[in-house]
Amino acid sequence: MENEVGNCINCGFCETVCPTLDPAGFSLWKGARGRVIMGRKLLDETREGNPVPHISDSFYSCLDCHACLYVCPAGVNAGKVSQLSREIITTSGDRKNENPYARMIVEVTEKYGNPLGVRSRSAGWAEGIHFDGKAEYLLYTGNMFQLMPYTKNLNSARKKIGSLLSNFMASRVANHPSLIRLLSRMRDREMEQKNYGTLRNIVKLLRLSGISFSYLGEREPYPGTFIYDLGYIEKFKKYANYVYSILKESGSRKIITVDPHTYELLKNTFPLYVNNFDLEIYYYLDLVRMPSIERSEEKVVFHEPCHFVLRDPKYSKPLQVLSETTNAVLAKRSGNKTRCCGGPDELIFPELSEKASQIRYDELKNTGAKYIITACPICNVNLSKEKRTMEIADYLASKLPG
Ligand code: SF4
Ligand code: SF4
Repeated sequence: MENEVGNCINCGFCETVCPTLDPAGFSLWKGARGRVIMGRKLLDETREGNPVPHISDSFYSCLDCHACLYVCPAGVNAGKVSQLSREIITTSGDRKNENPYARMIVEVTEKYGNPLGVRSRSAGWAEGIHFDGKAEYLLYTGNMFQLMPYTKNLNSARKKIGSLLSNFMASRVANHPSLIRLLSRMRDREMEQKNYGTLRNIVKLLRLSGISFSYLGEREPYPGTFIYDLGYIEKFKKYANYVYSILKESGSRKIITVDPHTYELLKNTFPLYVNNFDLEIYYYLDLVRMPSIERSEEKVVFHEPCHFVLRDPKYSKPLQVLSETTNAVLAKRSGNKTRCCGGPDELIFPELSEKASQIRYDELKNTGAKYIITACPICNVNLSKEKRTMEIADYLASKLPG
């Protein structure tokens, strides 16, 4: 943190790529440079023993996309500054600065192994599918596709009742996590069926590729992404070890993930917090071998997930598979200049998230492509403004013969 904020030369290059600055009305403290300035202030004040200043929204509104890192001449990552600042806030014990939604998510996840208390219901998509018992691979959905229909309706309700009342309710649930059961009844059933279909298409693609795998069903926990991203590092360490022990029980060393957030967390972050981590982590498309089908010239635009291209710029498997199947193009902002869909802000800053997703959606639509293809359930929800948005598994499955 000291190095990150100390190296900043205040040039403002990072503001040109930060996807939260424009949706926040160009308010400095909700852009990359502002976050570095606020991070320095937070560090100075807390070092002096002063109370945590009321600047936490600056850090909570960061999307953790890391686009700022690639344009900074001093190598500063304002996303990392935001993450470390959230860690300082959560460890300070100053509840006034903690975001109530952040605390709710963490408390509920710790109690139920799922941020909205819907762990067992998250296995509903697999009804009727027969999985292999002890298999070489374990399919780990991380509950991500299943959570989206709940977060969508939770956000709509939040907009209706206003932030004051919804923050009060989030604080109540954080103090009494079992109250989440009242909120978790609200889900978008149409989206639930769509996302169940995506998971079933992933199973279909893997089976066609000759992969044998088991599934934990109702025992499958959420991976803990929010706990880590929101800065509750001590809690994350404990939770990651709990998730790891469940994955290990399956007897498979090879874990197939289905979204970039879970993939990146398990591959790069778990080994830092879990002793003797010895699992192999795959994204499902790493294992998919598409049957030889005639490549179509249908123009589609691929929205690259930040957690692939901005964390590991060499990782291009989804684009590769898509390009083998169809005429796949990228938007003007792509590769390490890609623009986040705004999804990670959906629960805590819904208005900002909506504006950020509209900007990205317009960029993608302006390519003139017939379909917008996503490879992440969060991107898919945020960019589904019209019927033209499709998750990559659904698009590939639609091209299979028969
Ligand atoms: S680009 Fe880097 S050096 Fe320039 S303002 Fe942003 S963080 Fe500071
Ligand atoms: S990580 Fe993304 S949202 Fe956060 S400051 Fe950097 S560019 Fe902005």
